[in-house]
Formats: sequence, C-alpha cells, structure tokens
Amino acid sequence: MSQFSRRHDVGEKIRVSFEFFPPKNDEMERRLWEAVTRLGPLRPHFVSVTYGAGGSTRERTARTVRRILEETGLTPAAHLTCVDAKRAEVDAVIDEFVAMGVTRFVALRGDPSEGVGAVYRPHPGGYANGAELVAALKRHGDFDISVSAYPEKHPESPDFAMDIDMLKRKVDNGATRAITQFFFENDVYERYVERVRSAGIFVPIVPGVLPVHNFRQVANFASRCGAHIPAWLAERFDGLENDPQTHALVAAAVAAEQVLDLVERGVNEFHFYTMNRADLVFAICHLIGIRAGGGLHVESAAA
Ligand code: FAD
Repeated sequence: MSQFSRRHDVGEKIRVSFEFFPPKNDEMERRLWEAVTRLGPLRPHFVSVTYGAGGSTRERTARTVRRILEETGLTPAAHLTCVDAKRAEVDAVIDEFVAMGVTRFVALRGDPSEGVGAVYRPHPGGYANGAELVAALKRHGDFDISVSAYPEKHPESPDFAMDIDMLKRKVDNGATRAITQFFFENDVYERYVERVRSAGIFVPIVPGVLPVHNFRQVANFASRCGAHIPAWLAERFDGLENDPQTHALVAAAVAAEQVLDLVERGVNEFHFYTMNRADLVFAICHLIGIRAGGGLHVESAAA
C-alpha cells in the first residue's frame, strides 16, 4: 500500500502556518514567546495573531505583531475584524499595520463583543462582513488576505448555499486563501471542499487544526461556534479529566490521526490553532516530516 505520509520527503511538500493569540499578562507573554521560539524554526509560511474587540486587545495584537516583525525572521499575518468599529477606525488600524511592514492579513467579520452566540449587529458606520473588509484591505494595498471558511457551515448561515456564497464574495473581493474553522471529521472537510469547488471557488481551503489541550473547553467552544464533536471523540477523552498525562497522549494521537489522514487525502497546507502552546503542534509537524531549518533528510528504505 502506498502511503504518501510515510514518504521520506513528505515534509518538503507540506506548508504550515501557526495561529497565536495576544497575551494578557506577563505569564501569558512568557508562554507565547516560548511557543514562538519553539515553533519558529519549523519555518512556517506565516504566523497569525488574533484580534479582539476593544482598544486594549487591539493594542495587544499590534504589539505582538510588531515584536514578531522585529525579533524573529517570521512573517506575521494580522487578524482584523469589523466589530464595533467605524470604517475609518478599521482603515486606521490597517494603516498602522502597513506602517509596521505587515503584508498579510486574516480578514474576519468577528463575533459580537457580548460573546459568541449573541446576535451580531454590524456597526452602523462599519464594514458589515468579511467580504466588505477584504475589499477595504484591497483598497489599501496588494496584500495576501486569508479569510474564514466553515466546513460545517457558520451557525448564523441559514444554509450551505448562503455560507458558500459569502466565501465566494470574499474571494471575488481579493482573498487568496480560506482557513477553516476546526473540525474533527475529515469526510466533512472533503465534502465541503467539493461544494466549494463546484461553486467556482479555487483558492486553497486550508484545514484549521485544533489540538485538544482540554477536551471540556474544546467541547464547550465547539457547541457555540457550530463545530460538531463526534461521539467517538468524546469517548476517547472520557474519564481523563483528572489525568493530564494520558489526556495529552490521547490528544497527540487524535491530532496525528487527523493530520496524517488529511495528508493521505492530498492536503498539503495546514493552519494550527496553537493556543500559544508548542508541544502538540511541534510533535504533529515532526510526524509529517517538518523539521527545524527545512525538510526531512533521513532516507527511508520503504520510500
Ligand atoms: P463572514 O465571513 O462575514 O461570515 C461568515 C458566515 O456567517 C457567512 O457564511 C454568512 O453567511 C454568515 N453571516 C454573517 N453575517 C450574517 C448575518 N448578519 N446573518 C446571517 N448570516 C450571516 N474572531 C475574532 O474575533 N478574532 C479573530 O482573530 C478570529 N480569527 C479567526 C480565524 C479563523 C481562521 C476563523 C475560522 C475564525 C476566526 N474568528 C475570529 C471567528 C470569527 O470572527 C467568527 O466565526 C464570526 O462569527 C464570523 O466571522 P467571519 O469573518 O467568518 O464572518
């Protein structure tokens, strides 16, 4: 049986990006930079920094992006949302990032500031959705723009057709790549990609992979953002609430199984939601042949 994921040169054919969130205090700052330092040598295509509503979170995103630019050789992508801001305010944030030297963005509508699940009301003078934000970014420059995609449909979308129509608008406005919400069933992702292609959308649909550091937290978040937790996944973590060591081993096995299966299905680009932790992501990258400073050079007798 030919297994692509076991080829000696598989790591040279796979591209990864890592997502971080801006830290809120010194301890979180220390943890973020530990993760960046460990994952950086894997030479990701880019590292992205999430963006929240409210002035202080925005400043934290800007500070983190600036530090990545100044202190690492990594390429940052700044997330940006439309939440609670007039168009001119969003435009000013774009200008600030551009002045720093940022050329990559992840453009999002964002969630209501009251939290995921509350009804979203666009700011009356703001950009209404991801598609309008992509168009605004394009007016500022020729950036690399990633947008979101939802293999299980965004919870606010009445149906898949409307969901994919929004993705099409974002791509028509200039998005170059879509990164998916996390998912655990690879068949769901594959069916989604087929739907997207038949709608005439041909940008990469990069799977967003979330290693399960804490099953209870992931299950709670998934229920609010429309991602399905399959029964088999819940069963795998069942009874491990007070056993962090086994939980971590199971999480590594689950993520490895998912990523290796996607590689077998021909996926060659991954976006990891790191949660500012390096261990699981580093291990998964290692498994798919991604090594510090380049590809995997060990010749395999079975290749
Ligand atoms: P859009 O692309 O504008 O819309 C998504 C879908 O929702 C569309 O398919 C559309 O059909 C539907 N929809 C949108 N508005 C309406 C409406 N008014 N009525 C009916 N349907 C509607 N959030 C953050 O706050 N900060 C981040 O940094 C961040 N990063 C993310 C990165 C990735 C890769 C992903 C997948 C999500 C991220 N999010 C982030 C979460 C995101 O903001 C939420 O999922 C949000 O609810 C939708 O934003 P969007 O850009 O996907 O919206």
